[in-house]
Amino acid sequence: ADFVKLTTPNGFTYEQPTGLFINNEFVKAHGGETILVEDPATAKKIVEVQSGTKEDVNYAVDCAEKAFKSSWSTCDPKERSRVLLKLADLVEQRKELIASIESMDNGKALRLARGDVGIVIDFLRSSAGYADKLDGRAINTGDGYVNYTIREPVGVCGQIIPWNFPLMMLSWKIAPAIAAGNTVILKPASPTPLNALYFASLCKEAGIPAGVVNIIPGPGRAVGETLTTHPKIRKIAFTGSTGTGKGIAIKAAESNLKKVTLELGGKSAHLVFNDANLEKTLPNLVNGIFLNAGQICSSGSRIYVQEGIYDKLLPAFKKYVEENISVGSPFVESNFQGAINNKMQFDTIMNYIAIGKEEGAKVLTGGKRVGEEGYFIRPTIFYDVNEDMRIVKEEIFGPVVTISKFKDIDEVVAMANDSEFGLGAGIETENVSTALKVSKMLKAGTVWVNTYNDFHASVPFGGCKQSGYGSEMGIEAFESYTSVKAVRIKI
Ligand code: NAD
Repeated sequence: ADFVKLTTPNGFTYEQPTGLFINNEFVKAHGGETILVEDPATAKKIVEVQSGTKEDVNYAVDCAEKAFKSSWSTCDPKERSRVLLKLADLVEQRKELIASIESMDNGKALRLARGDVGIVIDFLRSSAGYADKLDGRAINTGDGYVNYTIREPVGVCGQIIPWNFPLMMLSWKIAPAIAAGNTVILKPASPTPLNALYFASLCKEAGIPAGVVNIIPGPGRAVGETLTTHPKIRKIAFTGSTGTGKGIAIKAAESNLKKVTLELGGKSAHLVFNDANLEKTLPNLVNGIFLNAGQICSSGSRIYVQEGIYDKLLPAFKKYVEENISVGSPFVESNFQGAINNKMQFDTIMNYIAIGKEEGAKVLTGGKRVGEEGYFIRPTIFYDVNEDMRIVKEEIFGPVVTISKFKDIDEVVAMANDSEFGLGAGIETENVSTALKVSKMLKAGTVWVNTYNDFHASVPFGGCKQSGYGSEMGIEAFESYTSVKAVRIKI
């Protein structure tokens, strides 16, 4: 099973692990099945990796439970900190290789992959700092008792992630969980298992004990469902689509009422007020919707422009996108946008572009694929839309955005909040009162003002409504991997 020598398109040769990572070993899957991993820029095969089964998950759970009980949950937290810091150093030392693996596997532009790896390094270090902060409260009840709370790790955790940020999502899941003393079994998405397995080899090199981190690629129906329903797993952390997330919440409850956190889909609104500074706004709109080719759950995929700036913004946005967003090979440094991750997603996006045209929306720019090989799509902007169109209502998860016009705060907040989702939101304004007032009115887990898709290791990220519940990053993520115990002593 174990390792295959691979060379990334920009010339890094390395040993790619291809086995399941269980108990600090790369092993063959029980069923003998494999996952074919392809390069989205060429649609050609890169390698095959082992595809896990129910038996593999059961074995990993036993190993993770043993590691949890024998040492990891009770060791000196400084030890958990130390190995997380070592892991961050290892990722930093191989930053360029890891970014290249990410671009090869996911299709994203190398410049973006480098940014992802930077966030991963920061986040590993930030999480290392939480390890010794399983704090509680002393509660003065004034009734002759001493009361206090402590936080404890929950146990073995199952984690399931999508393909759009394979390494970043993995770090957002694993780091806070193990910092708090839990052990984990993570399932990467089938199109993008390469960095997850490479990261596993770094976990071992950093000195993380056997059984603490386990990585099992495999089908959602086999590996994902076994994690979700396993009686010994105490928490499931899921990032992916809203439909899959709902199914997971139900099965997790039915099996053993395990804790669940869900980071799901979105259809986020990005508001541009008359007083916005256009020079700053244009790159923010681009980061909102064309970063990672729009395959970001918090993408600002509905742009709302106030009527006083509408006629100026549209031609300026078109010009800016056509001149600055080059689409093509992830490994050409000047390219801002790489490939869509997989054929199914490519077809979904192209279908939504056709739907938008049929619904009568006008195309300001884009609307086509780029080239014949691989999965590249031009940044696409629709205008003259109405709020009932499917392209305005449904998550597309690609480089496609709609622009609508608004009069005032009340109207735009009503339009922005008229969505089943509540993940991100953006406000472009130079007026601090507008920024504060509108941030309060928007139903979203994150509101960005004069920036967009701008993440920080210390700032929580999560959704409301059908975008899910629970947070990634910040102390909130760390706390979500703990449960509170209250102690009440009569004196
Ligand atoms: P998906 O829901 O199809 O798959 C996500 C993961 O779940 C994959 O690893 C998949 O194998 C697994 N899975 C599938 N069926 C399962 C089952 N029955 N039980 C357990 N696991 C199962 O989503 P996707 O297409 O990989 O990702 C795109 C979606 O993810 C978009 O809707 C996007 O908005 C969302 N997303 C959300 C966030 C966030 O933080 N809120 C971040 C990234 C992506």
